[in-house]
Amino acid sequence: TRPDTKSRIASLLADIERRNPAQPEFHQAAHEVLESLAPVLAQHPEYADAALVERLVEPERQIIFRVPWQDDHGKVHVNRGFRVEFNSALGPYKGGLRFHPSVNLGIVKFLGFEQIFKNALTGLGIGGGKGGSDFDPRGRSDAEVMRFCQSFMTELYRHIGEHTDVPAGDIGVGGREIGYLFGQYRRITNRWEAGVLTGKGRHWGGSLIRPEATGYGNVLFAAAMLRERGEDLEGQTAVVSGSGNVAIYTVEKLAALGANAVTCSDSGGYVVDEKGIDVELLKQVKEVERGRVSDYAARRGASARFVANGNVWDVPGDVALPSATQNELDAASAATLIGNGVKAVSEGANMPTTPDAVHLFQEAGVAFGPGKAANAGGVAVSALEMSQNHARTSWSRERVEEELTHIMNGIHADCHETAERYGVAGDYVSGANIAGFERVVGAMLEQGV
Ligand code: GLU
Repeated sequence: TRPDTKSRIASLLADIERRNPAQPEFHQAAHEVLESLAPVLAQHPEYADAALVERLVEPERQIIFRVPWQDDHGKVHVNRGFRVEFNSALGPYKGGLRFHPSVNLGIVKFLGFEQIFKNALTGLGIGGGKGGSDFDPRGRSDAEVMRFCQSFMTELYRHIGEHTDVPAGDIGVGGREIGYLFGQYRRITNRWEAGVLTGKGRHWGGSLIRPEATGYGNVLFAAAMLRERGEDLEGQTAVVSGSGNVAIYTVEKLAALGANAVTCSDSGGYVVDEKGIDVELLKQVKEVERGRVSDYAARRGASARFVANGNVWDVPGDVALPSATQNELDAASAATLIGNGVKAVSEGANMPTTPDAVHLFQEAGVAFGPGKAANAGGVAVSALEMSQNHARTSWSRERVEEELTHIMNGIHADCHETAERYGVAGDYVSGANIAGFERVVGAMLEQGV
């Protein structure tokens, strides 16, 4: 890297921080990507002439709106809604909606920024976007969630469309919420426009395997990283965090490939289950009863133990799959996992590993799969859902799963080869950032300013 590239990146990062105050997660995501790009920017002075990085870090459009709604007692609440339409060079904006009290503009921008590269890596013609609200669904009745979704869509509908922007789920938004959102979109617009949202119900345009896709895809990515080192998942112990949709189907796929997931967690603590997490019981507790992992432990019997407020990364394992939320795995946890002999870490959540922790894993020779590559299976199957909607057809489970496997192996190979090509063999973070970046900026260059 020429020294002027390094100083150019430093000044770009300083500009990002100055222009986007109080958005630490967005700064973190931008740092990680820009630092990987040094060798690319050094080779391509034309990127600087076209201000490609400057254009890439500025969302094309940011929408912030009021979401008023009435609870079951008649009290009126006001939340804030967001949709950041980050980049549409490769296709309509695509990315989930997150409903969680921590949601703010900076969080949505970090997620939308990551989504640009992730979606590019799938190769399926989707741009990057993200949205959500600081609404807290916890403890809310079904009717309250429905009214909230209806109010949210009453504003959002004017900004989205199958050729414009296609939201889906994320934390706090699953099949139920997508149903309420779709119903309101259909009522307001008088259009049965299947391709406007993904993650729909299976009898009205949803794709089979979409609920499973993020977790299944992450396990496939971890398996591909291990295969590269002459190993596989058979007989390995896995530590999984989270207990939502991503974690549940991570546990399921690990078991299918002969590995044993021994943990799951939520904000109250974690469960360690010597016999391996019983995925049917976990689904019953979380998806049907909307309960907590402590309820799982109470029902499971002697093999499972609930550790209130504990750190799930204290549990030893061969493979770690963080599947809860951003910055959930810090340097101290990484040191513990490394001390316990972890071989691979694959991110099911978006940016769950802090930058210090990522460096520790890489220095220790642990295979590290960044979320924008490893968890791309979810959005990839969303794109397959859009294809099925467009053709007014529905593919079998086998067909979707075969496509997902093919896509995940392709992303792994792409990241691996890109890292080798730039002299950083084995560094999947650089491989993913560079491969995603090259696709997006290639399209931006060809499409003009
Ligand atoms: N929220 C998921 C992600 O982080 C899925 C987005 C989608 O399917 O559009 O990639």
